[in-house]
Amino acid sequence: MTESVLVVPGDGIGQEVVPAAVDVLSDVADLEFFHAEAGDHVKRETGEALPEETYRRASEADATLFGAAGETAADVILPLREAVGSFANVRPARAYPGVDALRPETDLVFVRENTEGVYSGIESEVAEGVTTLTRVVTEEASRRIAEYGFEYAAENGYDDVTIAHKANVMRTTDGQFLDAAKTVAGERGADYEEALMDALAMHLLLRPEEYGVVICPNLAGDMLSDLAAGLVGGLGLLPSANVGAENALFEPVHGSAPDIAGQGVANPAATVLSGAMLLEHLGYDAEAAAVRGAVEGVLAEGPRTPDLGGDASTEDVTAAIRERL
Ligand code: ATP
Repeated sequence: MTESVLVVPGDGIGQEVVPAAVDVLSDVADLEFFHAEAGDHVKRETGEALPEETYRRASEADATLFGAAGETAADVILPLREAVGSFANVRPARAYPGVDALRPETDLVFVRENTEGVYSGIESEVAEGVTTLTRVVTEEASRRIAEYGFEYAAENGYDDVTIAHKANVMRTTDGQFLDAAKTVAGERGADYEEALMDALAMHLLLRPEEYGVVICPNLAGDMLSDLAAGLVGGLGLLPSANVGAENALFEPVHGSAPDIAGQGVANPAATVLSGAMLLEHLGYDAEAAAVRGAVEGVLAEGPRTPDLGGDASTEDVTAAIRERL
């Protein structure tokens, strides 16, 4: 059976790095690609950033590869994650040989709850100059992300699992998150460490090699994974997966990068590595490993885009990856 992959490049450099990743995926697997639009440019034309058609096709496809959205990011990616029933946002942050990383010993995977928490979207202006936000944390979603995180660690050979939280201040909400994760660890007989998310940010910066899988509430996972991007050499290298029970969406951690969009110099690595995660999701493990190997080879020996100190274009780097495949 040929799997269907929905391709949504979105805005800015999404239009450059997503076609690059599709070319790479086409080299190694027999996938059927469908294209759909979303983002700022669609909103300008139609008044709506995420057409219903794109939402529906994402929910029906075997997997979706998404680029980035600019100003409309929240109107696009949050519903798209919902369309694929995603509950876990997986963000690996690895340092690669040849890339000038702040912490070359970094090999982290953030497993971020991505359906609730601070990003539940329940905000209001209760009076002039007074605004509130409701933080939703359920036992069910907390257990589910912890189960996914511990399973991911076991399957991918990570010994260290850390539960990030701030239960000393957000006692009820993060208290529930922490309790649920600890209960899951107990049921599985798994070792773990718990860490206050602010102190964890400092420890990740100073001693990333002591950490492996980090299970996080929504906002903490968003912030800590960007911090980790800084440890390994920049946002151009970080892939991610939004995993649901059956369906999933893959996207680079970076955004639309309006400062370099249209110049043909965006680093395609994050999106190609997201494509490798997509291949794995569809059961193409050997092909995913080959794509990763090709990206690693190019990162080690060049050519490199300007964010990594080189002067190569997106096209040059993509061609070099494909050549290695
Ligand atoms: P958005 O609002 O869409 O998130 P942003 O500019 O705030 O856009 P990013 O798009 O993540 O956030 O970009 C942050 C910085 O990282 C920018 O300077 C951008 O040029 C750089 N950057 C992000 N992705 C890449 C990439 N793939 N290649 C090179 N540089 C990148």
